Amino acid sequence: MNSDNRQLIVIGGGLAGSEAAWQAAGLGCQVVLYEMKPLTFSPAHHSPLLGELVCSNSLRSDAVTSAVGLLKEEMRAMKSLIMEAAENTRVPAGKALAVDREKFARFITGEIENSSHITVVREEVKELPAMPLENSAAIIATGPLTPSALTESISQLTGKEHLAFYDAIAPIVEAESLNRNIIFQASRYDEGPGDYLNCPMDKSQYENFIHELARARKVPLKSFEDQKYFEGCLPVEVILERGPETLRFGPMKPVGLTDPRTGREPYAVVQLRMENREGTQYNMVGFQTKLTYGEQKRIFRMIPGMEEAVFTRLGSIHRNTFICGPELLLPSMQLKKRTDLLMAGQISGVEGYVESTAIGLLAGINGARLLSGKKPVIPPPETALGALVKHLTATDPKLFQPSNINFGLFPRLEQKTPKRLRGKKYAERALIILQEWQKTINKTQND
Ligand SMILES: Cc1cc2nc3c(=O)[nH]c(=O)nc-3n(C[C@H](O)[C@H](O)[C@H](O)COP(=O)(O)OP(=O)(O)OC[C@H]3O[C@@H](n4cnc5c(N)ncnc54)[C@H](O)[C@@H]3O)c2cc1C
Repeated sequence: MNSDNRQLIVIGGGLAGSEAAWQAAGLGCQVVLYEMKPLTFSPAHHSPLLGELVCSNSLRSDAVTSAVGLLKEEMRAMKSLIMEAAENTRVPAGKALAVDREKFARFITGEIENSSHITVVREEVKELPAMPLENSAAIIATGPLTPSALTESISQLTGKEHLAFYDAIAPIVEAESLNRNIIFQASRYDEGPGDYLNCPMDKSQYENFIHELARARKVPLKSFEDQKYFEGCLPVEVILERGPETLRFGPMKPVGLTDPRTGREPYAVVQLRMENREGTQYNMVGFQTKLTYGEQKRIFRMIPGMEEAVFTRLGSIHRNTFICGPELLLPSMQLKKRTDLLMAGQISGVEGYVESTAIGLLAGINGARLLSGKKPVIPPPETALGALVKHLTATDPKLFQPSNINFGLFPRLEQKTPKRLRGKKYAERALIILQEWQKTINKTQND
């Protein structure tokens, strides 16, 4: 497709960058993928592998009737590498798609390194490629923890201050340290053993727990950093600040779970999800936190069944860097100011593993198309990918916040539909339109 010296540069070999490189390579493009690990690690990255999951091992719901399930289904239809890796390395997690993170990243790394179209260079890119790029284009997929040198270079180009806000990660515990006489196995509303471990609390245990949590020591934020959290990833102690019952209606909600010892729904529940395929580690679901390490151990060991918990990782806070998409991006993911540069992943202004991958997929296709002189493509807004792009590029810039995919971002259904059928209808409409869109892409690709 390309003349020999044409190449696509992809900066960052996380979820978005790996997917982008894979998609572009699949279109016959020569790709050079820069990854700074293992020479430099961000505070959240630990593995030298590409496609590392930095926190939860879950890619969330796999039901096509949910918005994130639909987005995954669309990516499967578009031969996503990340989706293939997830299928190959999944661990039981009820209706969610969760993976063994080590095997998952190994799969991605193997496929990328074995691709004859992709060259991986282990180096930190400190500034944006010089302008204009001759015979090439570049995708910036350096994630929410982009190091300061490149962040500075990006902000010089965009002329915009990057917004910084905070997410927090949840602790992981050793399975053997859990008291299974207290903790019961069940998935919400499901009969049978289920995939989650549930730590039940009665009213007084809950009240003691939130009392201690409310007065626990937190890691202070640096003064120049604006304390702004993504709503879907609030630390437990921040949720609690909104009222004593908020945790019981959030990560500690007991509905649909029956404690076999009492035959009743507990007053509150802490859920644990399998972290690896061997089931030797469990992740505390929704328990992201910025408590100090000492306080985490003290307070989380108050949870029934976790009195002797051995933590293999404690929760922490982290930075999240992203650009103001509606101001800076075209729907193709090209930067308006330099159309030879495309943004992908969390830094483009989406939130979440799946969403970051999806934007990587689109940027990869469009990067390859730009190199071969074709018009970039824009996904229809009725698809989950298109809805995400629309949010990223057509929201009022003053109100813009990163978002997970959700049906609120989609154009309304043409017909009034009962709530329980809406997910199904959104999915049916999206998948038909996606097929048509794919036909158009294939047709123009071969022109
Ligand atoms: C601590 C933390 C926890 C999170 N938890 C979750 C979660 O549980 N669930 C969820 O859905 N989302 C989570 N997110 C949000 C987000 O979905 C993930 O960050 C996701 O990994 C973003 O994918 P990405 O490809 O954009 O970036 P990343 O996965 O961070 O990949 C970026 C890659 O680029 C490399 N890189 C960076 N700068 C350079 C450079 N200058 N030169 C060369 N290489 C570079 C990095 O080493 C890294 O490999 C979390 C984010 C953070 C930071």
